[in-house]
Order: sequence, then structure tokens, then C-alpha cells
Amino acid sequence: MRGFSFLTGTTLKKRCQHAVFDSRLLPAAFVIVPIMCCLPGPIAGAEPSRPSPSETSTAPEHPASQQLTLTPSASRPPVRWLREAEEMAAPLRIICYHPDGVVADRAMARAIARIHQLNAIFSDYDPTSEVRRLCETAGTGKKVQVSDDLWQLLTFSLKISEQTAGAFDVTIGPIVRLWRRARMSREMPPAYRFDEARQAVGYQFVRLYPEDRAVELLRPGMRLDFGAVAKGYAIDAALKVMRQEGVPSALIDLGGDLGLGESPPDRGHWSVAVAAMKPGEPPSYFVRRARCGIATSGDRYRFVVIGGKRYSHIVDPRTGVGLTDQSEVTVIAPNATLADALATAVSVLGPERGLAWVDTFPDAAALYLRLVGDHTEVHTSKQWKELSGETPDAQP
Ligand code: AMP
Ligand code: MG
Repeated sequence: MRGFSFLTGTTLKKRCQHAVFDSRLLPAAFVIVPIMCCLPGPIAGAEPSRPSPSETSTAPEHPASQQLTLTPSASRPPVRWLREAEEMAAPLRIICYHPDGVVADRAMARAIARIHQLNAIFSDYDPTSEVRRLCETAGTGKKVQVSDDLWQLLTFSLKISEQTAGAFDVTIGPIVRLWRRARMSREMPPAYRFDEARQAVGYQFVRLYPEDRAVELLRPGMRLDFGAVAKGYAIDAALKVMRQEGVPSALIDLGGDLGLGESPPDRGHWSVAVAAMKPGEPPSYFVRRARCGIATSGDRYRFVVIGGKRYSHIVDPRTGVGLTDQSEVTVIAPNATLADALATAVSVLGPERGLAWVDTFPDAAALYLRLVGDHTEVHTSKQWKELSGETPDAQP
């Protein structure tokens, strides 16, 4: 797998789950050259995010002579553009195609600003975020009017919570906080802390007032946690901005979760590699798609070992315990919000129940890799082959 160089980052806890490669650049038929490596980092607010987007590059990937031409953009060929930043405490990459660098750059800057705005709503680390302010009212009997974004993502998350009977629970915050501390101290929190935290968890304790777009958190100490969905939502919102700005052919990678817009101009799809379970092994699963979201959940980089047992940052709300299965779940769905939610939920539900549930969504598919001893077990939902583009005649 020449050229498949996974990046490392000192501030990052996770490394690649997907790599996006662009075989168009290659002379040979099936040598993979990455145009980017996705670095799944902590989820929304898992670490304090920077106060402003910190773009590290805005670069055309074609010779400068192509940008400086005065030909009207409509008659110029599309050029590929790349912009990198850090948002939601995760590396962000935007790749897009457009003939005009000014248009492409403006679109990417606005997409980044939109993600930044969403972090200010959903961050769990920023005490001034809208979510944190809402959580301060938990148990006080106050109902709080919320922004449209918070309303949309909360109502969506509550539906997923209901559908999974709480295997996915957007109110998991108090338990997630315990495990976050445990990851630092490498000590199991005392049982009474789990009991306390569990009192404040339960999606049934969120009361919605649709007529006022208001929310009431019924139990004291409740804490909403959008870590499992906020990145997907931000990716969808950013892709929407790109489309509105006239740049529909775009790919957004936020910490390893991906949103694929219209395909690159000369191909029918974007190409994404799913990282193998075992670090260092080459990927064996690929997705060739456009217009969809792809998300991966797993414990590869965020876990704690206590008493010889490995616990994931994904928690089973019914027990309060971090998952002990070593797994990596990749979901393809019509949008990144759904892909993100399903990937986390399926991780908790396990391969049988999880994949059967994914099959109930018309355009969703999942790949469930599980490490058992030294062996990787592979489970796929019914539509994986078709939706991943892994048909025998697929182009690399
Ligand atoms: P992801 O990387 O998208 O799978 O999201 C993982 C994050 O979701 C964790 O770091 C927590 O913030 C949150 N989370 C953990 N367990 C659950 C759960 N059972 N339901 C909903 N969110 C969870
Ligand atoms: Mg998720």
C-alpha cells in the first residue's frame, strides 16, 4: 500500500479511521495515493476547542498558472482546492472542486465558520456553550428556549435514543464525565459515583415544548452529551454551506467522520479507505460513493485499561460501563448526522441487533469489525456491498 501514510498528531488521541485517496492522480490502476489522512480526534468539545478557526493551509493542488488565468470561470476546468483547520477539537479538512479559487476559498471559509458556530452550541467543554447553559437549568423546573440547531439535533438524538431503547442516550453526559476522569487517573470510579451519575441519565427526562421550541431537563445534574452526533451534524451543515456558495463538489472530513458532496468532476465517486482493526495493517475495505455521510466509531484511540480490562469511551447506558469489546463500526448513510449516530449506537447494540437495526434504514449500511484475540471478525449489514460501491466492476 505505497503512499498510504497515516499521519500522527501530538494533540490527537486517535489516528486514522478512514483515509481518502484519489486514484485519479495515479498512472497505475490500483496503487493508492492518499490525498488526505483523516485523524479522528475527540468529539465535539472533548477538549477545549480553539477560540477561532486555525486554518493551516489554503492551497490549490494545481499549478498556480491555472488559478491566475483570466478566462471566465464557466469555461475553465474545475481545480481541486484544499483547506485545513482544527474545529471541535478535531482536525478538519475540506476538499472541493471549482474553477475559481476565490469562490472555492470563500465557500470553505464560510463552511469552517459554520462548524465553529456549531461548536459554540454543542461543546461540552465550553462552559458558555448553549448546551452547557441549558444543562445548568436541569432540575430547576425551568423550560429554556433553544436555538434551531440545538432543537434539531436534540429531537433527532431523542428519536435515536427511543429507537435503541436507550442503548444510545443523548443524556449520557454524567457517566461519560466519570469515564473521562477515569481515563486520566486510570482508576475505576467508586460505585457510588456511578449510582449518582445514573440518577441523572435518561432520555425520558427531557421534556420538549415544540410550540415554543423549548426544553426542560427534569432531573438535577442532567447533562446532554452530543459527542456521538455533533461532528456529523456539523459536517452536514458545512456541506450545505458549500452547496449554497456554489461549490457542491466537496468532501468534508472532521476527525475521521466524512461528508461527501457531489463527486469530483471527472469521476462518479470519492474513494475512502476504512482503516484495518489492527494498527499497521493495510485497509481491506473501501467505499466509493458521493452524496452521503460516512462515520466510524470505535475504541481504537480512546480507551482506558483498568485492572487488565480495556474500557471504551463509548458507554452502555444500561450498565454505566465503557464497552469492553474491541470494535470498529463504519456506517454509510444518506447524511453524516445519521451515519455518526448509527455508528455509535451500533457499537453499543453489538453486531446482531445493531446490524439488523441498520437494515431498517433504506439507504444505510454498516461494517462491524471486532477484534477477537488476534483475529478480526467481520460483520456487514445487508446493503454494505451495494452502498459501499464494492461491486466487482467498481473502479479503484
Ligand atoms: P462517536 O465517536 O461518534 O462514537 O461518539 C462517542 C462519544 O459519544 C463519546 O465520547 C461520548 O461523548 C458519547 N457517548 C458515549 N456513549 C454513548 C451512548 N451510549 N450514547 C450516546 N452517546 C454516547
Ligand atoms: Mg457517532
